[in-house]
Amino acid sequence: MPPDSTHRLPSDTDNGMLLVVSGPSGVGKTTIARTIERRLQDATFSVSATTRAQTDADVDGVDYAFLTDGQFRARLEAGDFLEHATYAGKHYGTLAEPVRGQLERGRVVILDIEVQGATQVKRAMPDALTLYILPPSDEELLRRLRNRDRDTEEAIQHRFDLAQSEIAEARESGAYDYFITNDDLERAIIEAMTIVQREREVRTRSA
Ligand code: 5GP
Repeated sequence: MPPDSTHRLPSDTDNGMLLVVSGPSGVGKTTIARTIERRLQDATFSVSATTRAQTDADVDGVDYAFLTDGQFRARLEAGDFLEHATYAGKHYGTLAEPVRGQLERGRVVILDIEVQGATQVKRAMPDALTLYILPPSDEELLRRLRNRDRDTEEAIQHRFDLAQSEIAEARESGAYDYFITNDDLERAIIEAMTIVQREREVRTRSA
């Protein structure tokens, strides 16, 4: 639906694009997604709703909107989610309304979501650009998980196994347009930015 012209901002354009960034934990996907948001003038990060507990690193309303199980269920039943998934026993979901609003303003809307959610988004909106961030190697992923964690070796191994099965699921899902290897953070960011700008031009031209 075209945006109401009376409510358009001077900075509004018609070339909005949904950008999905996924990857296993420890691979740097959130850093990459947040850096794209900062470097692309008209990009905006979608704040997901979740029932997982807030940690010290999380800012409510910035990193997530933290909901109770009941609140999440109510929004699900109201049909408010563009996509939703259960991950590690907790619910996560993208609220449709703010995403649609930002797309209508011509923004690049960035979703940092896992594979099930990305698969739902790609099915509902085939024009969404979907990126999957890969670790350079098994050894490097293990090293990164060990570095950022004061977990036991057993817990680290568990997260490593989980990452391996997530990568396999991502490949099998067919939901991803590009796989980007994060061997060097700045290089991976530039690769992602180049893809985003190119794909946005293609979509604008064919719109
Ligand atoms: P964390 O709890 O570590 O912040 O996130 C766990 C996983 O949930 C990550 O893979 C993250 O990308 C994913 N995630 C965060 N928000 C959403 C969402 O709204 N929908 C889906 N499907 N996954 C999400």
